[in-house]
This record gives sequence, structure tokens and C-alpha cells, in this order.
Amino acid sequence: MISIEALTKQYGAMRVVDEVSMSIESGSITVIVGTSGSGKSTLLRMINRLVEPTSGRVLIDGNDTASMPAHLLRRRIGYAIQSNGLFPHRTVAENIATVPRLLGWEKARIAARVEELLRVFQLDPVACGSKFPHQLSGGEQQRVGVARALAAEPALLLMDEPFGALDPVIRSKAQDDLLDIQRRFGTTIVLVTHDMDEAFRLGDRVAVMRQGRVLQHDRPGVLLTRPADPFVTRLSGTADRALKLLSLTTAGELAEPGPRESRTVAAGASLREVLSDLIWSGAEAATVLNPDGTSAGRVSLARLLAHGRQS
Ligand code: ADP
Ligand code: MG
Repeated sequence: MISIEALTKQYGAMRVVDEVSMSIESGSITVIVGTSGSGKSTLLRMINRLVEPTSGRVLIDGNDTASMPAHLLRRRIGYAIQSNGLFPHRTVAENIATVPRLLGWEKARIAARVEELLRVFQLDPVACGSKFPHQLSGGEQQRVGVARALAAEPALLLMDEPFGALDPVIRSKAQDDLLDIQRRFGTTIVLVTHDMDEAFRLGDRVAVMRQGRVLQHDRPGVLLTRPADPFVTRLSGTADRALKLLSLTTAGELAEPGPRESRTVAAGASLREVLSDLIWSGAEAATVLNPDGTSAGRVSLARLLAHGRQS
């Protein structure tokens, strides 16, 4: 667990991060969201001490991060940024191997890890590993950047607007990949974005920042239904909030026993997708199918509509 305690950064007279306290559970994704200049990057960079706090502290599993040399701390914490920060004159494989090398891993272990990560990120180890960053597309470079951040198997990964430069299709794919990878490795992730849709999609918990303060830190559904501040409401967007709420739950989670329907939906589909499917097909309900093809129950239009209500 990460405990952030009254963390403050002051530049001159300006407190850009102002007594932020929050705890972050291990193995979860926490998204820090807010408008430009609200202090998100500064908060993130105080966790790995790229920025030294003016006051307050950060504990990782009970250990004060100030008590260890910053460069050793940073080898244990993955860090990925928007401009992927790859070394232009090193190959993709060498880029990914950066931190394992610093840590003195055996050659064979490094090679195996590089190959594993290239496969996980759907980059061909043979074709891709020996290329230089400029020979890859933007989306591929971004994946290499995240792979490099994960190379030394960090328990904690910090990401600063990692998908900001990607076009919408590749961005959506990159978000799915990140969720897969987080499940596979159990990494604790703290991700900064200014995009509330991205925050809702990725975050187990979302912290909304404004002027250096965290206004609310909670599950996405709570931010939507019980916003603690008008700014949270505004940032969440009110035009489609019922649909946003539906997008946070899957058909499998809402399924209830009932008769078999001719229309079927996947258990992993979001309720937003199910609603769209029911409107499109004119059906009143659908049977929810598990990945193995068995029935998980059914979801009716009435139940969907009830679920999209504020309370
Ligand atoms: P965000 O990531 O939310 O856009 P930042 O954390 O980058 O915000 O910056 C928050 C505020 O702190 C901004 O007003 C920025 O200009 C200021 N700031 C950031 N770094 C420095 C610095 N090194 N010196 C002075 N001011 C800074
Ligand atoms: Mg920033």
C-alpha cells in the first residue's frame, strides 16, 4: 500500500500540491484526473522523488521513501510518460533492458524478460527487438515505453498521460492492454490523465484534483452518483452520466435468473453496450453468456434502466 500524507510542493509563493493525503491499495489502478496545471504531474513525481516534496511524506508498504537514495527508489518504480522517453540510439530490446541492466540481472534473464514483454505487448521479438525507436509507429513506441517501465517487474508503475498522443482507436487498444497487463502482473498503477472518460475506464479509484488539492478520491460510480464538489460534476460531464454509469458495470455482474432469451450478450460486455444492443434489436431482455458458452442468467431492459438511475 502507498500512503501519501499531507504531501505539499511549493514553488515560490505557490503551492502547486497542497497537503494531499490519500492511500492507494496494492494491485489497484488509481487515476489522478484534473485540468492542466492542477498539480497532477507534480504529485505523481513526488512518489518516485523526481520532485522532492516541500513537506509531507510518502510511505510504500510502511517505508518512508525519503529514507532511501532517490536513484535506488526509482529503479524499483516504473515510470512511463506521454512522450515515451525512449533512447533514440538504442534498439527496442536495449531500451526495455535498461533497468534490469542497472540492477545487474544476468544476461539470460534480461533476454527472457525482454522477449516476454515484447510478446505481451504484441511486438514481434525478432522483427521489433533490433529496431530503433524511430522505425516504429507512435502506438508501438508507446507500448515499448510501457514495456520498459515494467521490465524490472516493479510492484508500482507511475504513468503520466501515457496515451495522450495516441489516436482514439490505438488509444482504446492501449487502455485494454494496460488493463490486461495489470491483471496479469498485479501491478499497482497510478496514472495521470486530463480525460475523465479514460479515468472512468481505467480507474478502480479516481482522484479529482483542482488547484493542488484532491477534491474527491473514490470509485468512479461514487464520483458520478455522489460528487463531493460541483467541479467533480462538471468534470464528469452531465450530458451522458447515466450511460457512463452503465459503462462501469458488466452484464455478468447484473445478470439474474430467468427464462432463456433469444438475444444473447457476453458476460464481459458493459451495460452500456447491452442497452445499445437491446435498443437496436428491439428485444426486452438478453441472456448473458459466460466465456464457456454457459448461461449466467439474463438482463432485462427494466433492470438496466433502474441501474442507470442516480440512486
Ligand atoms: P498538471 O500535471 O496537472 O498539468 P503540474 O504538476 O505539471 O500540473 O504543474 C502544476 C503547477 O505547478 C503549474 O502551475 C506549473 O506551472 C507549476 N510548476 C510545475 N513545475 C514547476 C517548477 N519546476 N517550477 C515552478 N513551477 C512549477
Ligand atoms: Mg502534467
